Amino acid sequence: MRKTLVLLFSISFFTAFAQNAPVKPKLIVGIVVDQMRYDYLYRYQSKLGPGGFNRLLREGFSCENTHYNYVPTYTAPGHAAIYAGAVPAVSGIIANDWYDPEWGKHRYVTTDTTVLSVPRSVKKSVGQHSPRVLLSTTITDELRLSNNFQSKVIGVCLKDRASILPAGHIPNGAYWFDDASGTFITSSYYQPKDTSLPKWVQDFNDRRLPESYMKQSWTKLLTTPYTESFENWDRYDDATYSKSIKSGFPHDFSTIKKSEGYGVLRFTPFGNTLTLEFAQAAIDNNEMGMDEVPDFLCLSFSSSDYCAHQFGVHGEETEDLFLRLDQDISHFLEYLDKKFGKNNVLVFLTADHGGAETPAHLRDLQIPAGVFDESKLEEKLEQAIGFALGVNGDYIIEVANQQIYLNWNAVADLDQDPNEIAQVIIDFMRHQAGVYDAYTREAVMMLPTDYPFASEIRLGIHPRRSGDLIYQLDPAWHADDQLFKSGGTTHGSSYAYDTHVPLLWYGWKVKPGENFDRVNITDIAPTLAAILRIMEPNGSTGKVITDILKK
Ligand SMILES: [Zn+2]
Repeated sequence: MRKTLVLLFSISFFTAFAQNAPVKPKLIVGIVVDQMRYDYLYRYQSKLGPGGFNRLLREGFSCENTHYNYVPTYTAPGHAAIYAGAVPAVSGIIANDWYDPEWGKHRYVTTDTTVLSVPRSVKKSVGQHSPRVLLSTTITDELRLSNNFQSKVIGVCLKDRASILPAGHIPNGAYWFDDASGTFITSSYYQPKDTSLPKWVQDFNDRRLPESYMKQSWTKLLTTPYTESFENWDRYDDATYSKSIKSGFPHDFSTIKKSEGYGVLRFTPFGNTLTLEFAQAAIDNNEMGMDEVPDFLCLSFSSSDYCAHQFGVHGEETEDLFLRLDQDISHFLEYLDKKFGKNNVLVFLTADHGGAETPAHLRDLQIPAGVFDESKLEEKLEQAIGFALGVNGDYIIEVANQQIYLNWNAVADLDQDPNEIAQVIIDFMRHQAGVYDAYTREAVMMLPTDYPFASEIRLGIHPRRSGDLIYQLDPAWHADDQLFKSGGTTHGSSYAYDTHVPLLWYGWKVKPGENFDRVNITDIAPTLAAILRIMEPNGSTGKVITDILKK
């Protein structure tokens, strides 16, 4: 009798324990829309369908006041901050490219010459990428570490860096787009032994979707006027990100393709559609979300960024791209519903940065704005230093991302005081149009905490990777002078147009609602860790957003 009671107690205890064990979503999908300002949710809302962004707003939880909390606001640091919960000061992802003192030269963020393209037929530089530059773990790493690698993690994006950084150091795969062949590829980092792509990737590539997209032309989705975009905008969309795609519908690919190949798809809504088709193939062929162990798909849409860089935030092309992305997201949510059921999938959608008003347009409206010639700054500074010290020399290695790297060897050889050189640079910068101020790294660390953007600048500085001096521009001023003179747009600053992004949660246990509390982009990863009851990424500096789940 007693034994039976003990047995019954044990069974009920373990049943109760099993019931209390955290139930987790079967699939998590992180959607990052490259260069999506939060206001697009509302600017285009009357033209969006019910099943895409509007469904996420209606059925999901919106953190309406989500911001980047560091500079520079670029793609690579943005994706790292979302998935690692870490600012550049910790993650080491200080920009898309920068001067690397260890390499002694300029580097692209994910470039890794110790790995090879898969397949080998792809040009070396396109495939030689890995996440090794990322100094902290990602939420996707922590998920894999939490359960002996049972969770599957895959990164998907046209851009290498936006596929690689979210998927972390130990994913099952990360894939990006090769413009020359019009195919998705990877690197030997992810599959050291196998020199050919997984069969499902080959099968997808064999469908030749890019060719079918390029047989059509890009026309407007809607026949109603695009009243959310400015008329006569064509004089402001002459950016040179793409040399051959010009403004004005329809865009005929048959003439464009000759000069740019499949890369032109990046500037169009079809680049997003292609990415989504590939993401669904990744889910289907890897049996993601099919058991109780949570899997994680990192899905980033890049075409919104290329398109807005080219056509600006008020171009009809940008509006049309978002209307079509809305349709893609609607189809994707339907697919997730059908395959898994809404309550088994957790989706979040955010952006890696916002985007600015076109300075030439603002100036025509008599709003202060401008482009700062960063590409010419090094030469001007060398002259100013040479003049001030009476000795010409190679005092500066590089200027990039609003940071100035001193040539310490030359400074030592010429027996010059680095503080004196720094002061010459600061004095020069303070006399330049559009410059708010310039600082040495040490001076930035000494600024009062409530000094404008002191925190954002500090959190963007990595001790071993950042420049020796930093400069801040006025609102609506931009340092991207080579590609961005009179048209299109860019991003990278500490101002709201670049930092304020959407953050929508949807699906598994998410309650409908919104809040207007300040949320930092670094809060996403620790929130996911709390939901999944796993460790937050090891460089996480964010806090858990507490009110998105049902009690
Ligand atoms: Zn971006």
